[in-house]
Amino acid sequence: MTSLDDLPIRDDLRGLEPYGAPQKHVRVQLNVNENTHAIPEAVATDIVMALAGAVMGVNRYPDREFTELRDSLADYLGHGLTRDNIWAANGSNEVLQQTLQAFGGPGRSVLGFPPTYSMHSIIASGTGTRWVTAERDDGYELSPQTVVAAIEREQPDVVFLCSPNNPTGTPLGLDTVEAAYDATSGILLVDEAYAEFADGDTALTLLEGRPRLLISRTMSKAFAFAGARLGYLAADPAVTDALRLVRLPYHLSALTQAAAIAALAHAPEMLAMVEDIKHQRDRMILALPALGYTPLPSAANFVLFGGVADPHAVFEALLERDIIIREVGIPHHLRVTAGSDAETTLFLDALGQLESIGRIAP
Ligand SMILES: *Cc1c(COP(=O)(O)O)cnc(C)c1O
Repeated sequence: MTSLDDLPIRDDLRGLEPYGAPQKHVRVQLNVNENTHAIPEAVATDIVMALAGAVMGVNRYPDREFTELRDSLADYLGHGLTRDNIWAANGSNEVLQQTLQAFGGPGRSVLGFPPTYSMHSIIASGTGTRWVTAERDDGYELSPQTVVAAIEREQPDVVFLCSPNNPTGTPLGLDTVEAAYDATSGILLVDEAYAEFADGDTALTLLEGRPRLLISRTMSKAFAFAGARLGYLAADPAVTDALRLVRLPYHLSALTQAAAIAALAHAPEMLAMVEDIKHQRDRMILALPALGYTPLPSAANFVLFGGVADPHAVFEALLERDIIIREVGIPHHLRVTAGSDAETTLFLDALGQLESIGRIAP
């Protein structure tokens, strides 16, 4: 049988692992930070109507410039942004990939601060961009000094910051974003996939006068739209012109555009569950210490918790109980997404029953 090693694959891809979050049909799915609430039926009906209209036109290529969608996204973001500031693609992962295609690539580097979103390094390798890393401060925080020192040492072409950071939930101060911008002559991308769950400031407030600052967002998390694949970024119009050089023509299908525009017209309803999800997150942060675990503060829709004796055994034991959470490769830690009230209760109850294999003896 032919294996990958037998193929004439690029040398820099040899031995790499693909993104591999398990996709299992489990009753309680708290492993990939989706919004576990279905979208409201009235909104779903509107989306279906919009799709029906779009289907009648699929003999033609879609609007290559997705103008109406960019207007909708600019309206949603506010901050005085217009369609010229907006770019979108099939998930923010594609936005990040296009960013590295335009500003990274062979002979160039991107700096990240692990533990962080696993796709950042995978997209770096896919685009032939060297992934360089630097350490975080205590509690996974990132001070301006730490980021500036890393930028001065590595001289990267692109810097990725993640705010709030996945998988730790750590928010990022705007002072760190400002300092990072001033320290680099390259591109600074702030991945704000979880911005709607954070009470802190968004880097959108820093865009004015900073043409090398890119802020990526997604409809996958707070917006309950992961299956539709729509990510976007806000930046100087010159940045979107750079991305036009690398995107494939018509990369956003007419169906994707229609669905996203219809969903954005209902932004308040689509985001209705955000407050409840934050409540469930905070409920877990309060409950986990009583079970002997040490949750980290989180500004996102998930909680990273430590004090786990054998994370893999706990992962498997929860799976047997029809609950899936995430092993993130941090020793003695696991990550769990905040779901509905019922899902959170099922998770906490199940974890409470795992005492002997679960927590590290005090
Ligand atoms: C989930 C996530 C994304 C989202 O990706 P999409 O491709 O938009 O679904 C981006 N960045 C981070 C940090 C994430 O956790």
